[in-house]
Amino acid sequence: MAGNWKMYKTPAETIAFFEKFRPLAGQAAHCEVVICPPFTNLAAAVEAVKGTRIQIGAQNIAWAKEGAFTGEISGPMIRAAGATHAIVGHSERRQYFSETDETVLKRTQAALEFGLAPIVCVGERLEEREAGKTEAVLAGQFEKGIAGLTPQQFAKIVIAYEPVWAIGTGKTATPEIAADAHRAIRGRVREKFGAAAADAVRILYGGSVKPDNTRTLMAQPEIDGVLVGGASLDPVSFASIVNF
Ligand code: PEP
Repeated sequence: MAGNWKMYKTPAETIAFFEKFRPLAGQAAHCEVVICPPFTNLAAAVEAVKGTRIQIGAQNIAWAKEGAFTGEISGPMIRAAGATHAIVGHSERRQYFSETDETVLKRTQAALEFGLAPIVCVGERLEEREAGKTEAVLAGQFEKGIAGLTPQQFAKIVIAYEPVWAIGTGKTATPEIAADAHRAIRGRVREKFGAAAADAVRILYGGSVKPDNTRTLMAQPEIDGVLVGGASLDPVSFASIVNF
């Protein structure tokens, strides 16, 4: 159960969040809990979750170890802050910051090289869904953004299916729509990496997940977890999603 805070909260607000969240979900043992705050809050978040089962992730990661890449943050920097995960290829990065499947692959490889678990996002836009292209779009994103990993690398990633039309819009995919997309992605995994990899890979659903729709989404065997934006900003909401 992963939370993406997007560009919200200061370090002080991060500490205040965890003071409320820790007693509600800090020892949740039925799942992994990962919260991805902005880079500037990673250290405060890591400190705030000490002694709990909560893990901390970044929202992006540079493809290089270091160098002349103004504005980027590298894997070793994220690791040094104490984080364990990195979101890669979020649709907001693809939409506003020219992220492509090619850079998604490079960032994913960098995360793995520096010991971080990548949460790799894929998903179709509304016009692509309406044109009946959802499976083709997901297949293309998989082919160019994920299929270039080695089987050993692939075993360490988490995939997040996030239909762009459902992110921050209040329009959740129905559990059936989400499960169909997850099946399509898992089918690609099976073709490329084999049946065992397809069974093992965790595919999260993201897009307007709230406390009141988590249970029906999670009732789909295809849905292994959720990636939550807006509702992860509130400790009570996110705890009730975690404890669905
Ligand atoms: C996200 O940011 O990944 C997301 C799914 O956002 P929201 O839950 O607000 O739709």
